[in-house]
Amino acid sequence: MNRINDVEPSTSRPAQQHWLVVGGGVMGLKLAMDLVNRGQKVTVAEAAPQFGGLTSAWQLGDVVWDRFYHVTLLSDTKLRDLLSDIGLESEMQWVETKTGFYTDGELLSMSNTGEFLRFPPLNLIQKLRLGGTIFYASKIKNWRRLEKLTVERWLRRWSGNRVFEKIWLPLLKAKLGEAYPQTSAAFIWAHTARMYKARRSGMKTEMFGYVPGGYARVLDRLAETLTERGVRLLSGHPVSEIRSAEGGGLDVTFANGTQENFDNVVSTIASPLIAKTCPCLTEEEKSRHANIRYLGVVCASMLLRKPISQYYVTNITDTWVPLTAVIEMSTIVDPQQELGGHHLVYLPKYLPDDHPGLNESDEDYQEKCLSTLEKMYDHFSRDDVVDFKVSRAKYVAALSTVDYSTRLPPVVTSVPGFYALNSAHIVKGNLNVNETITLGEELLNELVWPDFQRRCGSGSNPQPVVDERPLAESPV
Ligand SMILES: Cc1cc2nc3c(=O)[nH]c(=O)nc-3n(C[C@H](O)[C@H](O)[C@H](O)COP(=O)(O)OP(=O)(O)OC[C@H]3O[C@@H](n4cnc5c(N)ncnc54)[C@H](O)[C@@H]3O)c2cc1C
Repeated sequence: MNRINDVEPSTSRPAQQHWLVVGGGVMGLKLAMDLVNRGQKVTVAEAAPQFGGLTSAWQLGDVVWDRFYHVTLLSDTKLRDLLSDIGLESEMQWVETKTGFYTDGELLSMSNTGEFLRFPPLNLIQKLRLGGTIFYASKIKNWRRLEKLTVERWLRRWSGNRVFEKIWLPLLKAKLGEAYPQTSAAFIWAHTARMYKARRSGMKTEMFGYVPGGYARVLDRLAETLTERGVRLLSGHPVSEIRSAEGGGLDVTFANGTQENFDNVVSTIASPLIAKTCPCLTEEEKSRHANIRYLGVVCASMLLRKPISQYYVTNITDTWVPLTAVIEMSTIVDPQQELGGHHLVYLPKYLPDDHPGLNESDEDYQEKCLSTLEKMYDHFSRDDVVDFKVSRAKYVAALSTVDYSTRLPPVVTSVPGFYALNSAHIVKGNLNVNETITLGEELLNELVWPDFQRRCGSGSNPQPVVDERPLAESPV
């Protein structure tokens, strides 16, 4: 049984209390919306000067677009519901996409079954094993079984050594860097499940969508709606410490030295930062947060006069290429309407959170990217680059290591009124906006709200809410 989805949000309303949501990424903003819709008083504190976290936008040439590439799938129903709530879903543009593979120095299309069957690096048996592995992964229901095996062991078993070395290994190294040997098979399962779901709802082709104006517009509208509903939004307000207050509630200290008392705090920031900002947690809780390893990213955005390919994603299996993939956003986003007639390409490199490559200078990364593109694409010229900027994030996605879900820290913590609810709790999916906000809503319904009601004496259950998620039976 799926415990999370079976829980109906309680309709009984406890007295209004003041909540602080720490972190103004999509998780924090969606939680703020859910809490204010339940009649609560809500403040959101975001460290950066603007809201949105990983979805935030910046200026590139004359264009304002996302710092990191974002697309929405037709199957992203929670995100589409949120966009409907703020009046933007009906404007979404949906585009059929193509996928490329850069392998043995050649750029090949891999966008349909025919192209897959003609794919030169593998013989027919190897292709059947690769296709069979992907199909089998899409049928697996009990993902917890996969969490016990390394992704390498599982892929070698089902795809064979040649397919593993030729296709999977370069992709795993590109996506996970040196962290791939510790990663569990649940990682590949989650990726496959999302792409299968996308194809099911997209009539067997990959349909990706975006809101005109990109996430900048989504975030502006979200902030506007939250403000209209009474949420207090504080940007440029890093939270430095959260402690239980003697007189009740939680005392929150901001980096500017100011202090404020809140009845409840939900922290959506990365786990190692939760451990640092809440010293009252038990040693066990702090060590669980601190020990979660993350994948970070260095990602260049490049505005060009000409397109470089017809593919939204070009996967790269040649190991000399120091990039995870080439993402040509302007194959989806209309160059004339949205990008001032230019073309937008992202060049990401994923690395573990402690990797020195995350601190490589912008100039070095730019040179590395441009010289790589010159080798990969005959027609690419750096004279066509209108603008080039590098963005980096240390904490992008918690690494799905072997038995990861059994080591998760609790959402309902030992500190009354302090809830630790971040994307590290995504255990049966990969990181994306839909998964993030679905998780936030589910954990609010199942754990945070019942605990809050119990503490206020307004819930039907006076027993403490036990966070059994990490130990629960397979919810799939
Ligand atoms: C390269 C890349 C590509 C992606 N592509 C897609 C895609 O195509 N489609 C898709 O759906 N998703 C995509 N995602 C994933 C998506 O961006 C995330 O799922 C989502 O943004 C996570 O939101 P969050 O609120 O959990 O975390 P974050 O966005 O990380 O938000 C956390 C916030 O907390 C703030 N914070 C940190 N410390 C403090 C503090 N002490 N006090 C106050 N605030 C603090 C941070 O500044 C940040 O704003 C992509 C992500 C990346 C990096």
